[in-house]
Amino acid sequence: MRIYLDNASTTQISQEVLDVMIPAMQAHYGNPSSIHAEGRQVRAAIENARKTIANQLNASIGEIFFTSGGTESNNMAIKCAVRDLGVKRIISSPIEHHCVLHTLDHLREHHGVEVHLLKVDAHGRINYEELATVLSMADAPKTLVSLMHANNEIGTLLDMNKVSELCQSNNALFHSDTVQTMTHFPIDVEELKIDFFSGSAHKFHGPKGVGFIYINGNNNIKPLLDGGSQERNMRGGTENVYGIVGIAKAMELACTNMSAWKETICDTRDYLIEQLKNRVEDIQFNTPLDEESLYTVLSVSFPKSDRSEMLLLGLDIAGISCSGGSACTSGSEKGSHVVEALNADPGRKTIRFSFSHYNTREDIDQLMVVLEKLVATKGEKVG
Ligand code: PLP
Repeated sequence: MRIYLDNASTTQISQEVLDVMIPAMQAHYGNPSSIHAEGRQVRAAIENARKTIANQLNASIGEIFFTSGGTESNNMAIKCAVRDLGVKRIISSPIEHHCVLHTLDHLREHHGVEVHLLKVDAHGRINYEELATVLSMADAPKTLVSLMHANNEIGTLLDMNKVSELCQSNNALFHSDTVQTMTHFPIDVEELKIDFFSGSAHKFHGPKGVGFIYINGNNNIKPLLDGGSQERNMRGGTENVYGIVGIAKAMELACTNMSAWKETICDTRDYLIEQLKNRVEDIQFNTPLDEESLYTVLSVSFPKSDRSEMLLLGLDIAGISCSGGSACTSGSEKGSHVVEALNADPGRKTIRFSFSHYNTREDIDQLMVVLEKLVATKGEKVG
């Protein structure tokens, strides 16, 4: 049996989600835009799914739009804010996901948008004073702040309330990439004033290729894709019906079980931290352990040694899947822009272990047996 510790890159689809998707695939083939019975049946399934998602976020159904996932949702929020809401400046950070960073590059190069990347410390934390200073600069143009709720490689959390307050007092828009935290931390849009955020089903045991964007009802934007009138004219293209049915089930399950799953995951993660500290020489953590972080992620920095050079490969061969950085670099030894931005010692080896409620302490025991063959253990010096 392989051990899967790469849940930040994607999660396994749960049986309960399959149990609603497969019958839907078998029975519901109508086009939701058709007005006949087959179409109406599918339309109802989509609208039920929207209601489920909106309820979990305390949003109104008119604020949830289905997309193909996190990448599309983040592109849509940022590009439409520039095109339709007069945004001329974006404040972000160097450790955002590439779907945000590359969008910013595009807007800077082709649309003259000013991009300000905040500095981050060795654990990926922004400086809120710097954010306040940049936001309140005299003659600042209309600004969008785009900061991820939790970093996908190291799990560092943003203080969403603080950023939201700063944005409100400076009349700036606020977008957050919430792809990694969705269903792991509650979001209530009655409490948190935010303009846009994103979700992606495959990060919480739903299907791949489906997600959603929350767009605050006050923001009047136009679609990113030109096409039909689906999603109330906001996202053309025949809906990914089965994906939408699946994301709603996955969201409902994960939100209902949020605290129970959190307890299981924290136990697994804390056990790994303890084992690493006790058994591995000169271990360091990129994840900030002295404050709350995204509990599904643990980024570990191993000291350089001959054996640690091929750490990821060695773990994979031994049946353990984890990642060297983000999903895009998963399985390769390519450096990560996040680890680079932390100013980490390039000689050390970063491995991201990421958990789901399916992981157990036994998984960690097996991981440790393998790790002890690949890295320097306590009391041992490896050249
Ligand atoms: N944002 C973050 C923080 C992510 O971790 C990911 C996925 O790796 C994405 C966005 C992209 O999401 P998707 O794979 O649904 O396009």
